[in-house]
Amino acid sequence: MLDRKKFDLEMDQVKKEEIKEISKYLERYIEKNANIRDEKLNGLGHGEDAKYVEGIEIPRVGRDFREVADEAVEHIFKNQALLQHPRYLSLVCTSISPYSLMGSILADIYNINVAGYSFAPAANVIEEKIIAYMAERVGYDPKKATGCFTSGGSLSNLTGMIAARENKLHGNRDLPIAVAYTSDQAHTSVKKAMRMMGLRPDQIRILPTNEKFELEPAELEEMIKKDIENGQRPFLIAATCGTTNTGSIDPIPELAKIAKKYDMWLHVDGAYGGSIFFSDIYKNLGKGIEEADSFSWDTHKWALQGYASSAILAKDKDQWIDAFIEHPEYLADVHEAGHIDGWDKGVEMSRPFRAIKLWFTLQCLGTDKLADVIDYSFYNASTMIKELNKKDYWEIMAPSKCAAVNWRLAPKNVDPKYYNEITHKVSEIINEDGYSYILTTTLRGNTCCRVCLINGNTTTEDIINTIEKLNAIAEDLIKEYANK
Ligand SMILES: *Cc1c(COP(=O)(O)O)cnc(C)c1O
Repeated sequence: MLDRKKFDLEMDQVKKEEIKEISKYLERYIEKNANIRDEKLNGLGHGEDAKYVEGIEIPRVGRDFREVADEAVEHIFKNQALLQHPRYLSLVCTSISPYSLMGSILADIYNINVAGYSFAPAANVIEEKIIAYMAERVGYDPKKATGCFTSGGSLSNLTGMIAARENKLHGNRDLPIAVAYTSDQAHTSVKKAMRMMGLRPDQIRILPTNEKFELEPAELEEMIKKDIENGQRPFLIAATCGTTNTGSIDPIPELAKIAKKYDMWLHVDGAYGGSIFFSDIYKNLGKGIEEADSFSWDTHKWALQGYASSAILAKDKDQWIDAFIEHPEYLADVHEAGHIDGWDKGVEMSRPFRAIKLWFTLQCLGTDKLADVIDYSFYNASTMIKELNKKDYWEIMAPSKCAAVNWRLAPKNVDPKYYNEITHKVSEIINEDGYSYILTTTLRGNTCCRVCLINGNTTTEDIINTIEKLNAIAEDLIKEYANK
C-alpha cells in the first residue's frame, strides 16, 4: 500500500496561516515599484549573482518559503538591468502602473485562462472590449475588427504575418513563389517571423530606407513590379509605426495603396509606436493605419504595462478568424455558439488574462491621463533636442518621432574618424556615473547615443540634469581628442 500522506501535494498542506504570511510577504515588495526612482542605476545585470544562483540546488525536500523568497529577491530579482527606472533612457521600456500590477496579481491569483469564451465569459468580454477600444483608436470599425492579447510584439508580428499567408497565398499553394517586403529599419522579429512562416531568404526583400529612415513607396512598387515580371507572388508588406532605432513611421497611406493595387496584405508593426493612438494630439502621426490589415501594438512598451502585454489587431474579423480557426473535438462542449473563442484568434491556446492589466490601468487612470503620458514623452523629447542643439558639438542623427532621440558627439575640432569612438565613450562614461543610462545604436555606420523617452515617470528635470552631465563628459572628451 502506498502511504497516501506521502503523496499529498504541498498545496493541500499549506496552512491558512502560511497563506496569510505569504500575502504579507508579498505586501513588503509591492511598494517597491513606487520607490524605484531612489535606486541607483547599476547598468546591465551583473554576473556575480548569476554565479550565486548557479550554486543553488533543486532540493529533494522542500525549503521554507521565506528563505526561498528572500534568496530570490536578493539574488534573482535585484539582479537585473533597472529597465523600469525613470532615467533608464535606453531601449524601449517603461515603468509599470500600480494598476497594471494589481491586474497582474489578481489574474495570477485566480489563474484565469482566456483560451475559450466559456471558461471565463466576463474576462473574454473585457479582452474584446479593450481590443475594440484600441481598434477604434487606430481607426478600424470596432464592430468589424478583432484581435487578441499576446506575449509581445514578436508574437503579434508573427500572428499578423501568418494571417497574411493564410489570406493571400491560397492555402499555401503560392508559398514557393511568395515574396514579402520590409525595410532595413524593421525590427528583427519581423524578419524572423517571415522566416518562421516558411519563406526562404531569397523570398524576403529588405529595402533600404530614405534619409528619414522610412520606406520609399516608389522604390517598393518598382521592386514589386519586377518580382511579378519574374513570376513571383508579392503578398505582404510589413511596415513599421515607430522603428526601434529612430521611432520613424513608414508612409502608411501610400503603402496601403500599393498593397491594395497588388492584392497584398499590409501588416504594421506598432510594437513601439502603437501607443501614439492613446493621444489625440499625436495619433495623426499614424494616419492611414486604418487601411492596414493587421497592427501590432505593445502596451508593455509605452503604456505603463508590465510584461507581457501586447495586442494584435485585425481590420476584418472574418478574414482573420479564417486564418486560425480549428474545431478540436475535445473542446466541442466548451464552444458557445455566437462567440469567438480565444484559440481561434491567434496562435495560443491557454492564455493568461493579459488584458486585465490594461483594463485596470484605463479604469483607474482614465484615458486622459494615459494620453498625458504619451504627450509628455513627446515634450521631453523636444526638450532634449533643444538642449542638445545649444551645443555645437552634438549632432542630431535622425528626425525625432515617437519620442526617440539619436545624436552623436561630432565636434569640429576633432577628426571625424574618432566620432564613433567618442560617442561610444559618452555612453560608457554616463552609464558608469549611474545617474542615467544611455546605450548606443548604429545608423548608417555612425555610432549614435539613442534614447526612447517613453517612461511615464521620466521628468523634464531628469532630462535637463542628464544633458548637463552629457555636456561635461563631451567637453572632457573634446579636450582629450582635439589634438589627436
Ligand atoms: C520591441 C519591438 C518589437 C518586439 O516586441 P517584443 O514585445 O519585445 O516581442 C517589435 N517591433 C518593434 C518596432 C519593437 O520596438
